[in-house]
Amino acid sequence: PSPHDPPYLRGLNPPQREAVLTTEGPLLVLAGAGTGKTAALTARLAHLIATRRAYPSEILAVTFTNKAAREMKERVGRMMGGPQGSAEGLPWLGTFHAIGAKMLRRHAELVGLQSNFTILDTDDQLRLLKQLIQAADIDEKRWSARQLGGLIDRWKNKGLVPHDIDAGESEAFANGKGQQLYAAYQARLLALNACDFGDLLLHMLTLLKTDREVLAHYQQRFRYIMVDEYQDTNSSQYLWLRLLAQERKNICCVGDDDQSIYSWRGAQVENILKFEKDFPGAKIVKLEQNYRSTPHILAAASGVIAENGGRLGKTLWTDEADGEKVRIIGVWDGPEEARRVGEEIENHQRSGGTLDDVAILVRAQHQTREFEDRFIQIGMPYRIVGGFRFYERAEIRDALAYLRLVNQPADDLAFERIVNVPKRGLGDKAVEKLHRLARADRTPLTLAAARILDTDELTPQARRALGNFVGDLARWRDMAGQLPHPELARQILDESGYTAALQAERSTEAAGRLENLTELVRAMEEYETLGAFLEHVSLVMDNEAQAEARKVTIMTIHAAKGLEYDTVFLVGWEEGIFPSQRALDEGGIASLEEERRLAYVAITRARRRCIILHAANRRIYGQWTSSIPSRFVGELPKAHVDEESSLTGGASLWRANWSERDDPFADVARGSGRGPGWARAATAGQFVSEPARIVEARGSAVSIGNKGRSDIALGLRVF
Ligand code: ATP
Ligand code: MG
Repeated sequence: PSPHDPPYLRGLNPPQREAVLTTEGPLLVLAGAGTGKTAALTARLAHLIATRRAYPSEILAVTFTNKAAREMKERVGRMMGGPQGSAEGLPWLGTFHAIGAKMLRRHAELVGLQSNFTILDTDDQLRLLKQLIQAADIDEKRWSARQLGGLIDRWKNKGLVPHDIDAGESEAFANGKGQQLYAAYQARLLALNACDFGDLLLHMLTLLKTDREVLAHYQQRFRYIMVDEYQDTNSSQYLWLRLLAQERKNICCVGDDDQSIYSWRGAQVENILKFEKDFPGAKIVKLEQNYRSTPHILAAASGVIAENGGRLGKTLWTDEADGEKVRIIGVWDGPEEARRVGEEIENHQRSGGTLDDVAILVRAQHQTREFEDRFIQIGMPYRIVGGFRFYERAEIRDALAYLRLVNQPADDLAFERIVNVPKRGLGDKAVEKLHRLARADRTPLTLAAARILDTDELTPQARRALGNFVGDLARWRDMAGQLPHPELARQILDESGYTAALQAERSTEAAGRLENLTELVRAMEEYETLGAFLEHVSLVMDNEAQAEARKVTIMTIHAAKGLEYDTVFLVGWEEGIFPSQRALDEGGIASLEEERRLAYVAITRARRRCIILHAANRRIYGQWTSSIPSRFVGELPKAHVDEESSLTGGASLWRANWSERDDPFADVARGSGRGPGWARAATAGQFVSEPARIVEARGSAVSIGNKGRSDIALGLRVF
């Protein structure tokens, strides 16, 4: 470092400087979390512009999220000391999708589009696919639009156009009709002057492959190409990058194989390995100093990820002061988990901390509900990043609309929302007639619906559909008096076909929606009556009054990639939640290792404090299910964690060696008085029938309820 260094170089360590100053030729920066990869990439962008190696418009920089793109723009702006003259243009800085769209607008006509093409959202896309499935006379119940959409997406992620699809792959949908439908879909899109997200890259990829002029243009234009979060690129993105960089070969990719968490969306961590092959002579820079986290946090994260096989391997160190150990808190159940997190944050505020420094990371979207409810209760401002607040999610609003309508027949808004959700063959025409009648008679839609059935205004199909719906509503209202309201909700979701429609989709997204609905039912259990619950929800929904600028952030681990917070709460670290049940069901090493990489990403978001929670019990359908702490908790190196359990009032767990005793149950009984820990169920479905005294058992795991021996699993090993 010299005193004449430009501002963007100041403070960088030697390998970071090397990454910034190595402007020519292929460069791969491979480094662990928090080592300043993104910082170096940003400085490199500033350097290229400041030293006039290229005009900004000759630089392509790909980020993983729009947020990251915005931040990089700001950072470059600051490093360069103010906004750059617009005469020199701006760098092409954005996500693959954003950059793909920008390019495609310029060459739309070459792929058969006009430059003002529309980008379809998922709903539009599904509607289109559905029409095609119907036109092809395929049984929609077996082969849903979502499923086809998912398949086409996967093909697009691989960079495959319809004629690349071989018979084997085509088999994956409707006995070999996959390819034909894919082709039809692409043709329809062109006719509509539209494309979907996957096309933004795929069209450009096709163009770069087939049009020498376009290829030459961009190969010349982009003197420098940079990619952040390279480990999460999919094949289509990879091929696109390789083509663009092949001429000048000034491509710099930064990534971390341990943070590859999007393989379920087609990302291929192997792209890192391919880099050296595709760009012979590539320089590799490793960054080893972590600037983000304390040594305890770093050691905890490293300890977990060390359990994965097949890693490229990296060293990480920090010269920060030790700080707090990672805290592991065992709590009784979900509500207590939310209460604990709330208390911890209030303490944090009392000692002068701000809410912006705090994040709660969940494995799955549905987990946000418990925290949202609690925070609303205690007036803690929060924001949900990368998703909707729980009660604003589409499937939750649909379910609530059903419940509102059962609770209050005159709720026309609710009626409108669900009269044809799931699709029951009521066209716009029928609904329009219904509206007209309701207006004329000044009656609620529910009544108008009953009345219109007595006329001959509807087509037979619409009549039948509406008749069923009206009948269902009446039956549910009767049931409302007799069934517990969570049970009622579950039946409504089943009988309306809502659950089945989601199940038929068989997509990850639909599975997430189903989880949200289960969570909704769980939330209802906390209220005495349906009315009380709905009242709670309307109060929650109205909570947008939270105008405070400073808020706690709640988001999924996936959405937290690349970000950092002073204090991070990692909640729900239990088998079946994290690692997710889906990963466990798949059973393969690969899915488990991806979960472990997620754990690594999660822990490494924390700068100063990392607090991991797990609950001993989760309530599902009114029944208490004992849960086992996540295996990742066990993998945290003991020297760097502090365990505490609210169950014992102290940190020590009751321990015994049961295997040496004839009757372990005697000990259970004795142990329960002294120091219950948490339960581990040996197999799913072993319930503890009510909050029970439970003793921890690791290894082959056991769950023990105070109802006696029936809950005990075989082969327990306790330490
Ligand atoms: P991730 O893998 O999570 O994306 P990263 O490798 O991209 O992490 P950055 O986000 O770039 O890491 O940097 C982590 C933190 O370290 C940031 O707060 C950044 O400002 C800081 N940092 C990076 N380099 C240095 C440095 N040389 N000196 C001091 N702080 C640094
Ligand atoms: Mg980064």
